[in-house]
This record gives sequence, C-alpha cells and structure tokens, in this order.
Amino acid sequence: MTYKKLKRLVNKYLPVVEDPNDHRSGFILTAEFIPRIEIDTARADDTYLFAALTHEFGHYLSWKSGYKNYRKYCQAMLISNSLKNINVLTKRQKLLVLEEERRAWESGIRFVKRRGFKINKDFYLIKKWGLKEYKDFLLGK
Ligand SMILES: [Zn+2]
Repeated sequence: MTYKKLKRLVNKYLPVVEDPNDHRSGFILTAEFIPRIEIDTARADDTYLFAALTHEFGHYLSWKSGYKNYRKYCQAMLISNSLKNINVLTKRQKLLVLEEERRAWESGIRFVKRRGFKINKDFYLIKKWGLKEYKDFLLGK
C-alpha cells in the first residue's frame, strides 16, 4: 500500500486535492457536476491516507455507475445539509446513507485490489471504525 501510488492512479480518473486544514476527506461534485476528491492530509499516516482515498474513490464509483440508491443517498445528504441535521431524515434515509458508506468501502477495496495493492490489518480497522462512527451517529449507540 502506498498512498502516493494510489493517488497517481486515481488522478487518471478525477483530481485529488489535498488540504491539511479541511479536517474531512470527501468526494465532491461541484456546481458544474465536475467530480473531485478532497483528502484531509493533516493525518499524514500512509495507511490512513490510503484508506481515505480508497473510500472516497468508492463514492466516485457509485456516482459514476448511476446507481439509483446513490441518488437517494445524495438527496439525503442534501436535505440534511451533509448530515449536519440528521433529524430531518427518515430511518430509511439513514439506512441508505449507511448503505452507501458500506458500498464505497467495498467498491473502493475491490478497485485497489484489482490494481495489485495489498491491504493490511490497519486498513480494515480504519474501515471498521469509519463505519461504526456513521452507524452510531445515524442510528444511535
Ligand atoms: Zn463516505
């Protein structure tokens, strides 16, 4: 695994923008529907950055595929102001958000594995904690 190598590969699909002050990585669509990935590089740990980029690229793959639940996920993100107000979401919408988070990990992992990257134990821990955080936040502990 190396983040830099993956970044070179992902850059062939869409721009990867690094921002050490962003405190959050994400897959972004601009108003003109131009996709890009933002990576919070404040945590410079290679496994962490590699996992973040793998995950966000998974969101890109969901978007690219035009998957119907991805559109519903986007709608849930929109009406909740990117989850700043989760009280406006129904249980079903919360589950759709979780489902997309899981899908982003799975399709990102499938992509990097196919490209010959090896995934270590720490990566899976980051994935596990990332999903748990979402689950606890959306559905309560
Ligand atoms: Zn995500």
